[in-house]
Amino acid sequence: MSFENLGLRPEILTGVKFQGYIEPTPIQRKAIPVIIEGRDILAGAQTGTGKTAAFTLPLLHILSTQGHRGGHRPRALVLTPTRELAAQVGKSIETYGQGLHIRSTVIFGGVGINPQIKQLRRGVHIVIGTPGRLLDLIGQKVLDLSCIEVLILDEADRMLDMGFIHDIRKIIRMVPKKRQTLFFSATYSKEIKALADTILHKPKLVEVAGQNVAAETVDQSVYLVPKSRKSELLSHLITEGDWNQVLVFTRTKHGANRLAKQLGKNGIMASAITATKARRHGRLLWRNSRPVKCAFWWQRISPLEAWISIAFRTW
Ligand code: AMP
Repeated sequence: MSFENLGLRPEILTGVKFQGYIEPTPIQRKAIPVIIEGRDILAGAQTGTGKTAAFTLPLLHILSTQGHRGGHRPRALVLTPTRELAAQVGKSIETYGQGLHIRSTVIFGGVGINPQIKQLRRGVHIVIGTPGRLLDLIGQKVLDLSCIEVLILDEADRMLDMGFIHDIRKIIRMVPKKRQTLFFSATYSKEIKALADTILHKPKLVEVAGQNVAAETVDQSVYLVPKSRKSELLSHLITEGDWNQVLVFTRTKHGANRLAKQLGKNGIMASAITATKARRHGRLLWRNSRPVKCAFWWQRISPLEAWISIAFRTW
């Protein structure tokens, strides 16, 4: 099946071609036509499956095809657990929506609020954001959710893991009852199911893999090794496998620094990166060290955040 068969507008297909995608991924094949039809979906899809485009493409289609009477107020809200994911979704919307007159903005905490207020006052169709800062802006009466037509929860399981459940419920109470809701989660716990049950209306279940399994593109191996020989094994794997880009997650900052040093002694260029350092220097380090063997240690940020940061790299 090609993208042309999914019912998307030609302008959006141009955006897809621009990205160089040849055919839709399974989640895109299954979700896009159902979303265009206007149905709620409950989608089990992990990062790496193309899930972002599975909702951003039909969202752009819907918003650019259907009229709107809400004036400057946003028509779609995408809730994400982290700023990195919000930025990724925002970028995706920007890329695919190039030929459309759809404005979007990304909202997250930890940065100045004034530019976000300015953006919202200018008027946007799509708001992508993390729950805390969104609630701040709602409290300041800058963000009005009364005209939301499409509500999307991206990585709902992570939002729950991060303790956002109350914020999410608060936000949902401010969104019109009559809306389309798209619910994405990589895993299904009882809590996720309970949340989905209360906010979805006759959803179509869209799944691309069994529940709680790794994405098909990921190979997993387990090495049982005494603690004292872990770094030796890692050095061996990196050297023997000729691995050029490696991310390693450690439990502590201290462990990260120690491991980086040990690898360095074995002739493997490595950097220990902490959460704050990662945001400032991660991309730079990665780019600068591309031609050499290198390993990164990320701690206190989740594998997903790290993955997204890497996905954002520009070579
Ligand atoms: P996601 O699961 O949305 O985080 O996407 C993972 C990666 O797959 C991103 O780098 C996307 O740009 C890429 N991607 C999404 N859809 C396709 C497609 N149909 N063909 C090839 N790559 C894709």
